[in-house]
Amino acid sequence: MAGEKEAALAAEPIDGPTIFDKIIRKEIPSQVVYEDQKVLAFRDISPQAPVHIIIIPKVKDGLSRLSKAEERHVEALGSLLYAAKVVAKQEGLDDGFRIVINDGPKGCQSVYHLDVHLLGGRQMNWPPG
Ligand code: ADP
Repeated sequence: MAGEKEAALAAEPIDGPTIFDKIIRKEIPSQVVYEDQKVLAFRDISPQAPVHIIIIPKVKDGLSRLSKAEERHVEALGSLLYAAKVVAKQEGLDDGFRIVINDGPKGCQSVYHLDVHLLGGRQMNWPPG
């Protein structure tokens, strides 16, 4: 989607706080679908599929993007993927789903707080755009 691409190209690859910190602190509303000690999952404000959920680590700890991941983040990364599986089940995506992680301008990342997209509820295509 052109708007997403423009937003991604305009986004500053920052290490500091993002809008997701406000969502974690419940300072701005979001439709939370899953939460545990480590991760928060909420519906994407601009859904690209009938089910489009963003899954993020509650503590950013330098994980502005996947390419910034270090060995100490391995557990957090695993927690995100496991939460994606739990939420997919919760959402009834038994026939399959897609997980996306955008990294940097070329990856169309617009919010610099590592986020996993869970997309489902329709047939996905390949290659992705
Ligand atoms: P992209 O925007 O290109 O998908 P990201 O991978 O950084 O880049 O994804 C950030 C996602 O967060 C976007 O899909 C965007 O629609 C979503 N988003 C941004 N602000 C909010 C918000 N306040 N509530 C829910 N989702 C949001």
